[in-house]
Amino acid sequence: MAVLDSLRPEKVFGYFEEITRIPHGSYNLDGIRDYLIAFAKKNDIDFTADEAGNIIYRKPAYPGYEDMPGIILQGHMDMVAVCDEGSGIDMKTAPLDIFIDGDLIGAHHTSLGGDDGIAVAMALAILSSDDIPHPPLEVIITANEETGMEGASGLDISNIKYRSLINLDSEDEGIFTVGCAGGARVSCFLESGASPSPDQKSLQISISGLTGGHSGQMIHLGRANAIKVMGEILKKASEVSDAAVTDIKGGNADNAIPSWCTVTLSVPAKDADSVIESVRLESDKQRKIYSETDPGFTAEIIPCDEISEALHLSISKASDFLKALPNGVIAMSKDIEGLVQTSLNLGIIDVKGGKLHAEFSVRSSIASERDELIDTLKKITGEFGGTNKVTGVYPGWKYAPESPLRDKMVRVFRDMYGYEPKVEAIHAGLECGFFMDKAPDIDAVSIGPDMQDIHSPLERLSISSTQRTYDYLLKVLADKG
Ligand SMILES: [Zn+2]
Repeated sequence: MAVLDSLRPEKVFGYFEEITRIPHGSYNLDGIRDYLIAFAKKNDIDFTADEAGNIIYRKPAYPGYEDMPGIILQGHMDMVAVCDEGSGIDMKTAPLDIFIDGDLIGAHHTSLGGDDGIAVAMALAILSSDDIPHPPLEVIITANEETGMEGASGLDISNIKYRSLINLDSEDEGIFTVGCAGGARVSCFLESGASPSPDQKSLQISISGLTGGHSGQMIHLGRANAIKVMGEILKKASEVSDAAVTDIKGGNADNAIPSWCTVTLSVPAKDADSVIESVRLESDKQRKIYSETDPGFTAEIIPCDEISEALHLSISKASDFLKALPNGVIAMSKDIEGLVQTSLNLGIIDVKGGKLHAEFSVRSSIASERDELIDTLKKITGEFGGTNKVTGVYPGWKYAPESPLRDKMVRVFRDMYGYEPKVEAIHAGLECGFFMDKAPDIDAVSIGPDMQDIHSPLERLSISSTQRTYDYLLKVLADKG
């Protein structure tokens, strides 16, 4: 029994439901790829399945549209496959259990994959139609977008003929995205020092309850970074004792502002009381600084029994290093008001192979600023005798002052909705950056229907917004003006 079969457009929701029955988390794409290939064969559509895992479809123009410039429709086939803790669902094998709740579609206890299954569904609906007017089409369905845009990165652009690209991977109806940041992950490593001397006490400092948030969308909001705050606290403690950091952990992902950090110190017994006192004083000061943005800020210092030996780094070196590392907004855009141009987020700290390891997400819409910031991190780490590793470099998409596709899409939107769409650039990555990097003459706009809480079991897709967005997309394709 189909759950969505009462919804119109029938094909869009029909394909979407079929996709939800095929497990398709990133790196688990054989099933969805087979489905997409079977679709092409069944509907007699020319396609390429490339080595990066992408599927590219080609469809000739609708009669009367042969002379129009071709359009590329683009989305990604993978989803962030997550489920509620304790639900026992195996996202590698289980079909999603979808439901309709008013205007929303969700999946019981799991993410839905509206991001970006609805783009795939819309594209398949258009490809399999014979009554939708459109120029010649190329449809690019990329692989593994959510894990670092590997499909887009590996795409051979010589397979792509057209230069007007509509990316369908946005989540706000009425907002056109026309620029995005590039970025990289930068790891910094510091070697461990000498082993602890005897007669030491072990103390544990924990910071927790900070607000955190996505480092692309929220880096400019002034929220506390738990690892940087720990650097301030350790600096104060280093003024009263020659302690050593013997373990450190904080943050969950390079692209999330860390909401917690825990450090274990090995302290000469005679200094323990003064270290506890200085940590309390500095924690209170930090809590006050962030009282508006981080009302849940909690800090505590407690003695602990076991002496950790994961690491042995002098507290002054560790705190000087953490304080020296830049973090947050580096530059705002001069072209677009309120847009962060360049930033970095110290998202993870831990001990790896006996070394202190700090991991950053660096972002910029300007490639040279991204590279400069990576160099700054290397230079600082080098001054402390450490080393770096740079991975996951992806290109940005600089706002194009002239864009015929954007002009056309704004005009069609205004005619259909009766108001202006918002045209924005974002401080996060989109696959468009890779396409522009390979073919700078590509003219692109990113749109999509309303979704909530993507990448989580609370993900919801709006039915009415999907209907309007599809309708709008068909009007753009049919527009000859
Ligand atoms: Zn997406």
